[in-house]
Amino acid sequence: MGNPKKIPYGRQSIDEHDLKAVADALTSGWLTTGPKVSEFEQAIAKLSNVAHGVAVNSGTAALHAAMYAFEVKEGDEVIVPPMTFAASANCVAYMGATPVFADVDPDTLLLSPEKVEQLITPKTKGIIAVDYAGQPCDYDALRTIADKHGLFLAADACHSIGGNLNGKMVGSLADISLYSFHPVKHMTTGEGGMAVTDNPEYDRRMRIFRNHGITADFRQRDGWFYEMEDLGFNYRLTDFQCALGLSQLEKLEQWVERRREIAALYAAEFAGIKELAPLGLRPGANHAYHLYVIRLKGSDCTSKRKALFDHLRENGLGVQVHYIPVHLHPYYQKTFGTHEGMCPVAEEAYKGIISLPMFPTMEDSDVHHVVDIIKSASTSGVF
Ligand SMILES: *Cc1c(COP(=O)(O)O)cnc(C)c1O
Repeated sequence: MGNPKKIPYGRQSIDEHDLKAVADALTSGWLTTGPKVSEFEQAIAKLSNVAHGVAVNSGTAALHAAMYAFEVKEGDEVIVPPMTFAASANCVAYMGATPVFADVDPDTLLLSPEKVEQLITPKTKGIIAVDYAGQPCDYDALRTIADKHGLFLAADACHSIGGNLNGKMVGSLADISLYSFHPVKHMTTGEGGMAVTDNPEYDRRMRIFRNHGITADFRQRDGWFYEMEDLGFNYRLTDFQCALGLSQLEKLEQWVERRREIAALYAAEFAGIKELAPLGLRPGANHAYHLYVIRLKGSDCTSKRKALFDHLRENGLGVQVHYIPVHLHPYYQKTFGTHEGMCPVAEEAYKGIISLPMFPTMEDSDVHHVVDIIKSASTSGVF
């Protein structure tokens, strides 16, 4: 059979325009904390239809900065879904607070507002929703719950940049929304992230936090004077990374469009495979498709999923599983006493899911290649 064609599950696209943007920034005299940072912040805030953007050096740093902005403290509880990358919950642990895992909806695998409400206690400080795979959560229901109980609402939008909910842009659906610009995400700065918000106080706190806790207005003073008002970090993003981000941003809309086309191709082809149960699409939610996730039907698919996963890898497809439910990681079990059985929907879903190749430079022929491998695996009884 020879070497199978290799297709990863995600891949960045870097073109000549990106190279020139980075080269220009590198020779501009500003390597960090220069004009490209605020230009990039304003551009991402504009895309998100909010007033402020704070650029940081990862999506994880953006989540951490948001928790600082919300003044999450030891003793607080923050509700998060388990079907996400660990960073969505780690940011709560960084503050000495407790992540409380609320299960997901069985159809969409998005945070269930009903489950959130059941877990609210006097210690609950806020909710972090995660737009799993790129589909915006039910922010109307989450907002109602947050307002009723006086909680903050954050959106981990690392999968959903460029998406929208009933025409409202991702980035404008929560008090603070967080993006990642890791190469596997929709657009990249190498490493990088951003927090966007309409709230000037959150914006101010996050700016201080990414720069050691030093107040931003020192430049206007004597020239040498500054004050460290609180304990922060160095979470700054460089100018040449922001230049790359600005150049990538110009292509985001067409890339999201292409991801939607690829998803539609997959969905049409898989509709006839009775062993697959597609993830649900929420009415009004305009999916940005960071991931295309297939799910095996039936309960406890562990062995069938393993067989299909191995088969796809053997055939050159860089498939992945997103995610091992966060509360099952040893750190969470030993630190917060989480355990199997706490989020049965996420735990069951985890056993049957596989993320297929999904990136904007995939050709239709690549999509059909993936489909053919899965169809022949189905007919030959691999799953
Ligand atoms: C990628 C990702 C993060 C973390 O972003 P980094 O830039 O890798 O730190 C957080 N949450 C989710 C859901 C992600 O996919």
